[in-house]
Amino acid sequence: NSEECQLMEVSDTSTALSSSCRPLVDSVATFKGENIRVWCLTSENIWISGVVVSIQDTQAVIRTSDCRIVTASSGLLQPANPDILEGVDDLIKLSYLNEPAVLHDLTYRYSRDMIYTRAGPVLIAVNPFKKVPIYTADFIQAYRKKTGSSLHPHVYMTADAAFRAMVREGINQSIIISGESGAGKTETAKIAMQYLAALGGGGGLEDEILQTNPILEAFGNAKTLRNDNSSRFGKLIDIHFDNSGKICGAKIQTYLLEKSRVVQQAGGERSYHVFYQLCAGADPGLQERVKVRPAQEYHYLNHSDCLSIDNVDDAEQFYLLRRAMNVVQISNEDQEQAFEMLSAVLWIGNITFHIVDHDNVIVDENEGKLAVKVAAGLLHCEIHELVAALSTRKIHAGGDDIVQRLTYEQATDSRDALAKAIYASLFDWLVDRINKSLEVGKRRTGRSISILDIYGFESFKRNSFEQLCINYANERLQQHFNRHLFKLEQEEYTSENIDWTRVDFEDNQECLDLIEKRPLGMISLLDEECTFPRATDLTLAEKLKEHLRGNTCFKGERSKAFRICHYAGEVMYETNGFLEKNRDLLHADLLQLLSSCDSSLPQLFAAAIGEGLQKMLSPTRRANGTESQKQSVAAKFKGQLNKLMQRLESTEPHFIRCIKPNPQHLPNVVDQELVLQQLRCCGVLEVVRIARSGYPTRHSHNQFAMRYGFLLPKSLSSQHDVLSVCVAILHQFVIAPEMYQIGITKLFFRAGQIGMLEDLRQRTL
Ligand code: ADP
Ligand code: MG
Repeated sequence: NSEECQLMEVSDTSTALSSSCRPLVDSVATFKGENIRVWCLTSENIWISGVVVSIQDTQAVIRTSDCRIVTASSGLLQPANPDILEGVDDLIKLSYLNEPAVLHDLTYRYSRDMIYTRAGPVLIAVNPFKKVPIYTADFIQAYRKKTGSSLHPHVYMTADAAFRAMVREGINQSIIISGESGAGKTETAKIAMQYLAALGGGGGLEDEILQTNPILEAFGNAKTLRNDNSSRFGKLIDIHFDNSGKICGAKIQTYLLEKSRVVQQAGGERSYHVFYQLCAGADPGLQERVKVRPAQEYHYLNHSDCLSIDNVDDAEQFYLLRRAMNVVQISNEDQEQAFEMLSAVLWIGNITFHIVDHDNVIVDENEGKLAVKVAAGLLHCEIHELVAALSTRKIHAGGDDIVQRLTYEQATDSRDALAKAIYASLFDWLVDRINKSLEVGKRRTGRSISILDIYGFESFKRNSFEQLCINYANERLQQHFNRHLFKLEQEEYTSENIDWTRVDFEDNQECLDLIEKRPLGMISLLDEECTFPRATDLTLAEKLKEHLRGNTCFKGERSKAFRICHYAGEVMYETNGFLEKNRDLLHADLLQLLSSCDSSLPQLFAAAIGEGLQKMLSPTRRANGTESQKQSVAAKFKGQLNKLMQRLESTEPHFIRCIKPNPQHLPNVVDQELVLQQLRCCGVLEVVRIARSGYPTRHSHNQFAMRYGFLLPKSLSSQHDVLSVCVAILHQFVIAPEMYQIGITKLFFRAGQIGMLEDLRQRTL
């Protein structure tokens, strides 16, 4: 009977994710009575609400909210919350905490444009995919002054909490934003920055800081199938404040820019915005100076059949980019030189080759030749040097230098490698340049708020080295999240001898060991294999399978494939291209070419050349001497992540989890399964359970006595023993015994208990 609800285990609905994601169910409820409100899963995998009409044995008859009568196995129903809890702004407040209840709460709020909901200490943000009028100056004022609408969860509330905590406690804060591509991370980061700029404004730097966004988005974002403005790099921005709470500087750190996009994009996707902006927006003078043509004339831009983005005017964006660059004080000269390099990249992409004898190539005449000429001009190098670097290779053998011609494939590869290297250097130079403008002034106090906007967990049909790096970063962040919210919490309760019910959580240390442990973790093995000239993707796969099979998070597959059980689900990777991507070598001839460029941005190639040449010229250089050794991409990324985690661990974190409600980017549409998957991935429900069962507010005995002792009559506040003062305060202001616990060094309070004391304190001060 198709009318019947086919009830299943909730965990069975997680089709795309593995069993490592636990179902988030309060308990398997037993439904004894009738007229009980329940959630019931239909055969279409949709949760609908209903009322129990009757129960016989384990079968329940249910009248659904759309007036159908269905039968269902009672043991698998989920209890629904009473009406009075409809749309609560903090999931902590739900009586029944199960997947349909959470989903309903978020959907109910979302349909009323309340896109933010708290999950205890975490803010959930559901992408509205439309303009919601909650980011005006009035809203900022309301949250600053804590009036009117400021009681609703909002990014402003989170940013405000971070700012107040920084000022009050003198501890650096961080706002950690995660979610899958298109979930709204970057927008959320900007909203937080906007609020902090308003709060810490007045010093003149706030506009500069906000204007770094359009610059970095132009150079580091691109249209993908998942997001028209997808960030292809990770970003941490530290905003520093002086003693008076004014912004006194900022520093940006970026992670792992996707270089391959410069030379190749999937159909329907674009390269970095800035290329199209330059092509569309350069005025005739600039066009002439940097030799730029319409986008469709460049191979790097036209091969993916996607030159524009709906509702985006690239020429106008170019105007905004230049305005932003001016605000950030990048000189006109530097700007033009950057555009010159962008143009060089595009012209390099138009260089073509043809095969002469055997397999050897020469650079094409005609259009190809024009490309070489223009590119050499823009790079300020000799044409013949560029031609030689792209079509031949110097080999050092038996004390002689031999010049070898490249095959067609090698030549195109070296052309693309050159373009990627130039773009990556340009990006690094730009970040450096921005950091110089925003450099923290002398009046720094060391107090800062860091905002992290980093790519979320990725699991595609085909997953490669990039996904491994991204998912590795997410494992580290998840561990930080777990540590902070679960482990620290539990440990503190235990060490303070506080009575509470334990809550289990997923520990992902084993997966991290699999990836980063030395000497037999994935990165070490990969790096080792990269040093063998004869290694192939297949030998790498075999090596990984041989050494890693003991780890329960690893599963070898056929040929070059393997699986990793990540905290958010199982992902299958293929080792194709791993070695090359990890080595990321620039051939010595190309390095030499870059160092010979009389580029007017001298710092531009310094890093690329320095890193490469230094190793190449060292005595331990490889026998054939043609390629330079440098730190592998994975090793460098691991180092960056370690630094990031150290930085984050020295801060008090605030977490924001962004949720993408549907894959089509439509407003007002919620795809239940997609949302549930994301909620499972980020452990939101466990967090709620902890926060609800726990005591989120805490003060040391001393702190508490100092802060509120003065509210007591003299006779009580003058007691010598600090703990007695604490107890007196608790009694004097009638805090219910179930609302607090007294630990060995601290007092622990249920959510919301301290508010009354704070109000009293404010009024009395
Ligand atoms: P992510 O960085 O997670 O990949 P983005 O922040 O780029 O995602 O968001 C993708 C798109 O979703 C944005 O370009 C915008 O159209 C929309 N969006 C995200 N957050 C909001 C918001 N708070 N209000 C309106 N639109 C939003
Ligand atoms: Mg983004």
